[in-house]
Amino acid sequence: MTTQVLAPDESSLSLAARLLADGQLVAFPTETVYGLGANAFDEKAVLSVFEAKGRPADNPLIVHIHSRSQLDAICDVPDLAYPLMDAFWPGPLTILFPKKPSVPSVVTAGLDTVAVRMPSHPVAAAMLRACDLPVAAPSANSSGRPSPTTAKYVLQDMNGKIPLILDGGACDVGVESTVLDICHGQPTVLRPGGITKEMLEGVLGCEVQLAGSILRPLRADEKALSPGMRYRHYAPKGTVTLVEGSEEDVLAAMRCLCEAGRADGKKTCVMCFTEHVDALRDCNPHDIGHRGSDSETAHRLFSTLRLLDDEDMDLIYSEVVPPEGVGLAVMNRLGRAAAFRRIDARALLDEVYGG
Ligand code: AMP
Ligand code: MG
Repeated sequence: MTTQVLAPDESSLSLAARLLADGQLVAFPTETVYGLGANAFDEKAVLSVFEAKGRPADNPLIVHIHSRSQLDAICDVPDLAYPLMDAFWPGPLTILFPKKPSVPSVVTAGLDTVAVRMPSHPVAAAMLRACDLPVAAPSANSSGRPSPTTAKYVLQDMNGKIPLILDGGACDVGVESTVLDICHGQPTVLRPGGITKEMLEGVLGCEVQLAGSILRPLRADEKALSPGMRYRHYAPKGTVTLVEGSEEDVLAAMRCLCEAGRADGKKTCVMCFTEHVDALRDCNPHDIGHRGSDSETAHRLFSTLRLLDDEDMDLIYSEVVPPEGVGLAVMNRLGRAAAFRRIDARALLDEVYGG
């Protein structure tokens, strides 16, 4: 199959709508990352999404809509959802709803809830209006790899597997939507994203919980509230390690680690804040945005991880951000990209130079 990459205009949007209605897959930009869409009512089309991504069948998809009037056909709407939709739709918030039987169980991996979101990206909205179908779409990457934030990275993973990629340029937020469960007692963030716990609490006027495994691996005895949390995720081909400690210790430890990596014949680099690029000039620095500007880091995270694959990087040492606000979404992805490997900079320096 030839994969066309087209700029969004009237003719490419109506082609996208025809393909979706015909049971085929279309990759499209959203404000978070690129999605790989299929008609949510078409079981066979949805199965081909899993196939194109190599996604485990027990990891459910998010259903994308352009209008609240589409909800009635797919789910029940609890009262609590209204203030959330008023405040955050269209936008990067995915809400779990009690599913109706019209949604094939492949979409929800057999769960009795369906995850729904209304994207704000003008191209996503235009495509959803043009086909007027609920579109089931996970991120448009091969399963396990960093999510694509440009059409180029979608093509890397999907070339020959899907007929169309709508190229809407770089995604704004850069990490996937916040996933919020309002169906099982106290509202719980299953996956952190651009809409923060604090923003949700502000609207709901009650405490919002964070799922336990956001910043650590799921324990063997623990049930995955969001099945996606079980899997290896967001990982580039090289080995990512997080380096933690005071600013001074982290810079010194990164220099040590890079020197050791290079001496070992490995392609080695650091992911660091803009302010540290000069100080780490000898460490092949990759800029993840200004210190304290977590939205900028979120925006750059996946494209940086993808670039490191393009560069065949072996060893990647990354700075960390405080796990608060949008920083929680960054650390959730970065932690998984690093398979939770972390180095305490002070301990490393004590070992190298004597305590
Ligand atoms: P992706 O589309 O690749 O961004 O992944 C969708 C995420 O939403 C995964 O982490 C899923 O596990 C999660 N998700 C989708 N539907 C549900 C659901 N019904 N219940 C819990 N988590 C869900
Ligand atoms: Mg994904």
